[in-house]
Amino acid sequence: MIIKSFGATKNVTGSCHLLIDEKDDSSVMVDFGLFQEREFEERNYRLDFNPKGIDYLILTHAHIDHCGRIPFLIKNGFKGRILCTKPTYQLAKVLLLDTGKIISENYKYELKKSLRRNEEKPRLLYNESDVLDSFDYFDPFLEYGKPYELKNGFVVEAHDAGHILGSSFVKIKKNGKSAIFSGDLGNKEKPIVRNFEYPGEADIIYTETTYGDRNHRSFKESKEEFLAVIKETFKNNGNVLIPSYATERAQDILYILREFYEQGLLPKCRVFLDSPLALNVTNIFIQNFSYFKEDNIPLFKKGDPFNFPYLNIVKDVEESKNINKVSERAIIIAGSGMLHGGRILHHLKHNIWKKENAVVFVGYQAKGTLGRKIVAKEKKVDILGENFEVNAQIYTINGFSSHADQNELIEWITALRFKPEKVCLVHGDEDVMGVYKSKLEERGFSVYIPDYTEKINL
Ligand SMILES: [Zn+2]
Repeated sequence: MIIKSFGATKNVTGSCHLLIDEKDDSSVMVDFGLFQEREFEERNYRLDFNPKGIDYLILTHAHIDHCGRIPFLIKNGFKGRILCTKPTYQLAKVLLLDTGKIISENYKYELKKSLRRNEEKPRLLYNESDVLDSFDYFDPFLEYGKPYELKNGFVVEAHDAGHILGSSFVKIKKNGKSAIFSGDLGNKEKPIVRNFEYPGEADIIYTETTYGDRNHRSFKESKEEFLAVIKETFKNNGNVLIPSYATERAQDILYILREFYEQGLLPKCRVFLDSPLALNVTNIFIQNFSYFKEDNIPLFKKGDPFNFPYLNIVKDVEESKNINKVSERAIIIAGSGMLHGGRILHHLKHNIWKKENAVVFVGYQAKGTLGRKIVAKEKKVDILGENFEVNAQIYTINGFSSHADQNELIEWITALRFKPEKVCLVHGDEDVMGVYKSKLEERGFSVYIPDYTEKINL
């Protein structure tokens, strides 16, 4: 058997690994994500394999860097089935529709521009109709811990990865050989989703390494830091902006703010959830509370743990614009999380140049994104075609990350019953992988960092 990786090799996004049994040409692919780093965007249009020849696609979780190219795969002839857990399917549907809409809008804008300038037409990765077509290919029946024998002889087993609602790491076996693909592993201290399960055993492991070079601050300290930022900003008569992913992070933030409110810690303010997408996702969370940490279940049974009196749900664009009239004591949660687009950009335009305001980053910022530039303390940035000085206070709270940190990644992999033949590092920046590699080698693992399209024997 062989494994080839077509994404998240020496970079974070675009996850895709293909397992092929060369004897009968049967295959299983794990994830087919969108590349989000600017320098790798071109790879989104590449298919370095025949999509018609892939039997199954296993989806570890619904984040776009793991599922965001599925409509493109189908558009190009994939005829297999896509297997995942039920919540992953529900979340992937709303996230893919949102992505399809953004891609279509960008395409129309670029097309107009190219016609005006008499330049080459842009390419369209996929549109909303391709997204709708892709839903017919999903079989959302994977359940944690239950092995499934596929028609091509591979056996697939999903386990809770503790990353976001419905997330899995998967073990895939055939002919006495086995591989585990970690997907994204979760931060154990987070409040809602359960902790990751341990990997058991396999001949080869593909593990994510997003935070392989560092440890997060504890969740308790991160909450204290967050509350201190809110209080300080309100003392200075400013607003707090939180660019947030719609999935998991927005819910975590609401959950924490509700706790602050109930504990009497949250100063009187207005909290705006300005993301229709995050609202849809929150509803999917409420429907699937059986997936959450045991002590959360009574809370979900009682009501909506993401709601509290200071919260305003913003639905239409007019309401969103009205938030700009609020000059102080507002907490604005909006997407996109890395500032690729979305309503957060309008709020940034109105707030980033004023020193009394705060922008709080609560998630990973990929290279080349506006979010990364602001986090890297660039003094001037372009927002929606205009140049702005960054005078607002910039904070990064990594402890709210949905990713395991270095200690947790090590805890997960050292729980293996036997040392695998090889550990392949994926889903991380190259320098981070280097740090994590030496940590694993110190512990006696044989570690390898595969390249894009490189063939690994199993
Ligand atoms: Zn993820």
